Parts: sequence; structure tokens; C-alpha cells
Amino acid sequence: MKLKVLNEDIAEVIITEEELQQRIRELGEQISQDYDEDTELILICILRGAVMFMADLARNINLPVTFDFMDVSSYGSGTESSGTVRIIKDLEDDIGGRHVLIVEDIIDTGLTLKHVIKLLETRDPASVRAVTLLDKPERREMKHVEVAYNGFEIPDKFVVGYGLDFAEKYRNLPYIGVLKEELYN
Ligand code: 5GP
Repeated sequence: MKLKVLNEDIAEVIITEEELQQRIRELGEQISQDYDEDTELILICILRGAVMFMADLARNINLPVTFDFMDVSSYGSGTESSGTVRIIKDLEDDIGGRHVLIVEDIIDTGLTLKHVIKLLETRDPASVRAVTLLDKPERREMKHVEVAYNGFEIPDKFVVGYGLDFAEKYRNLPYIGVLKEELYN
């Protein structure tokens, strides 16, 4: 079995590698159909969790795409729903007049995505849409955050793997899983 050392820390696999790859193929097909075939799409990867997803998604989008990367950090606790988002690394490219697809790993409260969309809209792109691999609808505070494409809805559990970390580890698992509880403490 692959990655035996990491597997031992996982209590439950929520989404297998095959399920991920199948759904990402579907998302890629849907995205390819939704834009005109000559659209140049900028994929914006929200670091670091969306790296795996963007790499696989891009290979399933039948359009000319470019990559850019943004690193943000969410501020604000559960008690502060109007928390803000700090940009640690901004985009390299000018998105003015261009079609932008934000690629996120997971939407929890929706705060991060809401702020990123708001910021990018100030730069006058032709369009801004978002795709997320995972969504925790129970936790969503920002009800009005529009996500055009959603891979999987998952329960309110802390998940790792396929880009998602716990203390920077587990990103290289090829599936989405839940960590054993004793590892949190
Ligand atoms: P939001 O701003 O939507 O509350 O949070 C989004 C960010 O929180 C994600 O991009 C991700 O970095 C982190 N996050 C939320 N839920 C999880 C989870 O279950 N596992 C991991 N590893 N990160 C999560």
C-alpha cells in the first residue's frame, strides 16, 4: 500500500483516489463546456492546499489555460464572522479583461473565498468564477458566496490529504481522509 507511514494516522477515508479523479474529470468537462472554446482561462490556485487539485483539474480542461498563484491567510475566529484575509503572496499576472477561475481546496466558512473574489473583482476581470474541490455546507457563514463548481459536499470534519494538511503534513496522500483523533491532541 502506498504511503504506509501516513496511512497509519488516518481513521477513515472519505473520498478515494479513484473517486477524486473521476469527479475532477467531470468538473473539467463541465468547465470546458461552459466557456467559449477560444476562452483563455487563468486558473488561480489558492496556496497551498489547492495545488494537487489544480494540477489534476487543469489536465482535464480543454481550453488554453494559464496558472497563477495566490497565498492568503484567514484572520478572525469563530466569534468574529467579519474577519479579514491577508495576502501573503499576490498574483503575478494582470487579470484586467481576462477570465479568472479561482481554484480552492475547501470551503469552510466561506470567508477566504469571499475576500479573494471581492479583491479580484476590483481588478476588472472579464469574469470571476470559483471552483472548490470540497465544501462543508454546514459550516458556511457566507451564504452568498457563489461557487460555480463544487466537487464534493462533506460533513463538518477536519480532513487531510490531496493537498490538505495538518501542521503541513499529509498533503501527499492521494485521497481525502480524517485523521485519528489522538493526533490532534
Ligand atoms: P474558510 O475561509 O472557508 O473558513 O476556510 C477555508 C480554508 O480553511 C481552506 O482553504 C483550508 O485552508 C482551511 N480548512 C478548512 N477546513 C479544513 C479541513 O477540514 N482540513 C484542512 N486541512 N484545512 C481546512
